[in-house]
Amino acid sequence: MSPQILKIALDLPLNRLFDYASNGFKAQVGSRTVVSFAGRNLVGIVMEIAQTSDIAIDKLKPVIHVFEDVVFDAKAFKLLKFCADYYHYPLGQTLISALPLRLRQIKPAVTRKSYVYALNPQANLNKIPKKQIVLHKIVHALQASTHANSSVLAEISPGWRKAIFQLKERGWVTETEVVAVKPSLSSSNVEPDLNSDQQIAIQAILDETNNFKPWLLYGITGSGKTEVYIQLLQKILAEKDAQALILVPEINLTPQLEARFRSRLSQYTLVTLHSNLSESERLQNWLAASTGAAKIVIGTRLSIFTPMPNLQLIIIDEEHDGSYKQQDGMRYHARDVAMVRAKQLNIPIVLGSATPSLETWYQAKKRQYNLLCLKERAVVDAALPKIHCIDVAKSPTENGLSPFLIAAMRERLKRGEQSLLFINRRGYAPVIHCNACQWIASCMRCSARLVVHLSQKRLKCHHCGHEQKIPLQCPSCGNPDLSPIGQATQRLEQTLTMLFPGARIARVDRDSVRNKDVLTNLLTQVQNKEIDILVGTQMLAKGHDFPHLTLVGVIDTDTALFSPDFRASERLFSQLMQVSGRAGRAEIAGEVLIQTAFPQHALFDALKNQNYATYADDLLDERAVMHFPPTSYFALLKAEASDFKQVSQFLNIATNLARTISKEVTIYDPVRPQMERLKNMERGQLLLQATSRQILQRLLKIWMPRLREEKSASKIRWALDIDPIEF
Ligand code: ADP
Ligand code: ZN
Ligand code: ZN
Repeated sequence: MSPQILKIALDLPLNRLFDYASNGFKAQVGSRTVVSFAGRNLVGIVMEIAQTSDIAIDKLKPVIHVFEDVVFDAKAFKLLKFCADYYHYPLGQTLISALPLRLRQIKPAVTRKSYVYALNPQANLNKIPKKQIVLHKIVHALQASTHANSSVLAEISPGWRKAIFQLKERGWVTETEVVAVKPSLSSSNVEPDLNSDQQIAIQAILDETNNFKPWLLYGITGSGKTEVYIQLLQKILAEKDAQALILVPEINLTPQLEARFRSRLSQYTLVTLHSNLSESERLQNWLAASTGAAKIVIGTRLSIFTPMPNLQLIIIDEEHDGSYKQQDGMRYHARDVAMVRAKQLNIPIVLGSATPSLETWYQAKKRQYNLLCLKERAVVDAALPKIHCIDVAKSPTENGLSPFLIAAMRERLKRGEQSLLFINRRGYAPVIHCNACQWIASCMRCSARLVVHLSQKRLKCHHCGHEQKIPLQCPSCGNPDLSPIGQATQRLEQTLTMLFPGARIARVDRDSVRNKDVLTNLLTQVQNKEIDILVGTQMLAKGHDFPHLTLVGVIDTDTALFSPDFRASERLFSQLMQVSGRAGRAEIAGEVLIQTAFPQHALFDALKNQNYATYADDLLDERAVMHFPPTSYFALLKAEASDFKQVSQFLNIATNLARTISKEVTIYDPVRPQMERLKNMERGQLLLQATSRQILQRLLKIWMPRLREEKSASKIRWALDIDPIEF
């Protein structure tokens, strides 16, 4: 018998497979292997098993090892191959980057079993020496509940494993293996009767479960979209041995959502996949999904690649959210990949949003996607908030706050209700400025201003992480009178503390909330009315329930209103809609006050009427006139180097080459992006525009391999961004 040849994908920027001899190992397509490449050992994935190779058989290197784990099935391969093609990213790198970190390492994948521990009656605390603090703590914890799992114990002490071992030795503790840890039942366990819009939505989807059908579930915050997801899952999971994947923007920001799914679908094993898990948790959850043991996966964008053998439904919550787009490596859009996956598997996909992306809206208008509307708030009596603009020209602000807004907040304090101030900028002030010579602190490495962080007495670049002390005097003229200009979360917090000395104020931004626990605690405090005023960034806008909040103030949106980014208004609208949705969720009607110098702007009109549809239609018309997405397709070639000459040389070559390849694609001249310099790199970019994906792809297929061979390409960093969302 002729020897087996394994064609292996490796994590290398080369768009080809590598042949190795199987070396007697039993390998399958999808097996994880270890091979030697250019003197290094690398993890590779078997893509094909063949009998022949272009390389002489005796020259073939043997594989070093083949692991037992088969990490990708045929369906996963099909999806990943599509992505490598569509995004013009090397297949090996596409495959490897879809794996959890632990599987990219040269180690077998061990499925760790979960156990719960219970105290036996003969356990006796008095027999444990006082010094053994960990043992005491663990026994106390076990006494307090019927049983505890590893994560509970790990929180009590990092030394819990040893303690449990000792307790088992003494026969004081019983260990039981569990398939899935049942969550404790919480109060949100009640199952509301669906309103008619919700019933229609669920029935429509259930009637088409065996077909590829994209559904747009369109309804404002509080209209009951999540309830639709939950009851849909209950139906689909009960009928067949199915799995479902739910994509969410940032799970850390929505602990309530996860808890709600867990308690309402407690009979199904549910795992989460996101970057805040430890690597070993991530591996275990990934394995649970890929073996089919986990029925429900809730994850952020990368989880779209998780193999799930019985996947029957994909849900994308807040489908318009920008975090679904990966911004480096393979620059995929998880929503688009999800659409392809659903199509390949012939299953339904549900996109939920109060403010759908224009891409999705456009497809719904063309009836490519099926529109399902939830027209009202689900909770009876929950009125929509009243939205007003405060014209800051007529009512000037002091320290960022207009007298109207201050009065409205004072009123809330008096009534014992909560207020929220939304400003999408963290730090103390966005600029520090010299009053004598107009000097402004900017980052040495980026074309960006340095942001003042007063509490730490530092200036920080929010783009590259550069930090420095706040200078005592102007570095340019020596003037000691430097003033911070503009508003950001910390400064507003300070102002509020002075205005409302008795009020309990909390700030929520990436500096104050570093992990999920901090946020969860804060949200609980808000629920318990232990906080009067919240100040924060869009972290606060995401699906949190604030029943006692009746006022939302929006500070400084005007920069976004006139941003050169063509998606800025779309984004601003959805942010404002989302943050407005925080006001008046329970019985008390809410009010939203927006400070702006442009109260007549069409965006605010639409927002006041909660009329996204009309506004989205207008934006779509504008895009069509400009030939912007979604009515046309973009690809962006980005390049950077420490010397701009090299960037421009490469981009000029690329431009000329593209122009000779295609007459159908519009190839613009290379330009510098808004942020010309980032992390000491000079940047440039080239925009391609086409009327269809096919036309664009036809050019890219010829262009990309030729670019890779260009000499000027090897001297710089460059990347292709298909369907870019910002530039
Ligand atoms: P969304 O996801 O659109 O923001 P949710 O599903 O979270 O909306 O619903 C908002 C609130 O209304 C939740 O507290 C939910 O439990 C409740 N709710 C949803 N549907 C119903 C219903 N049919 N009857 C009563 N309450 C409902
Ligand atoms: Zn100066
Ligand atoms: Zn910088």
